[in-house]
Amino acid sequence: MAETIFDKIINREIPADIVYEDEQSLAFRDINPQAPVHLLIIPKTRIATINDLQDDQKALVGHLFTVARDLAREMGFDESGYRVVMNCGEQAGQSVFHIHLHLLAGKPLGWPPY
Ligand code: 5GP
Repeated sequence: MAETIFDKIINREIPADIVYEDEQSLAFRDINPQAPVHLLIIPKTRIATINDLQDDQKALVGHLFTVARDLAREMGFDESGYRVVMNCGEQAGQSVFHIHLHLLAGKPLGWPPY
């Protein structure tokens, strides 16, 4: 799978506002925020889309969600609410082909998303 801009962020080849890191994952602020808080939570392993997920990567995906939960809680959004979303493929709006959760918070979020 091709390298993306997120590999450069993982490898510190380009700057990013990193808010969390562990062995498996990295979280940083989106460069083009769509809400007062807009974080991206990514695995360090390169996985292009949800379609490329392997069955033995279920725990990794679960880990991304628990990182999102913890960050939202730390920022105080566990009561007010927040959105966690992962786009898959171009029609869904995926533009970086390295899976990532968007964590959006800090304002009322519209639904459906169009
Ligand atoms: P997608 O459209 O693939 O679901 O989300 C990709 C996200 O990555 C977009 O919200 C976009 O603003 C963000 N993004 C793209 N390039 C960069 C970058 O170089 N740095 C950061 N921090 N975010 C980026």
